[in-house]
Amino acid sequence: MTVDNIGKVISSRGVKFHLFVPSNRNIWTVVGKEKEYWLDPELAFCSCEDYYYNEMTKNGICYHLKATKTAQEKGAVEKIQFTDSEFDDFVGALVDDILEL
Ligand SMILES: [Zn+2]
Repeated sequence: MTVDNIGKVISSRGVKFHLFVPSNRNIWTVVGKEKEYWLDPELAFCSCEDYYYNEMTKNGICYHLKATKTAQEKGAVEKIQFTDSEFDDFVGALVDDILEL
């Protein structure tokens, strides 16, 4: 993936921070080409295949994590607030999306 793609993800507000209140649980996602990926910038974890390959081969990080870092630096993160009662449905939908190959 090129820097161009990262720029596109950020300009389309594809880096999302989902905050659940009142517990303050949160989930980061990045909208990819075909689906949305779940990632954790603090753990440097991403649910995509690139992450798996990079991690196994080059010990690198995928472009979703790079995009998240860049969006944080630029203040271009899309922040969305939910209530805790929506958490289970949200995670369920996200996992379905990730597991759908
Ligand atoms: Zn990724």
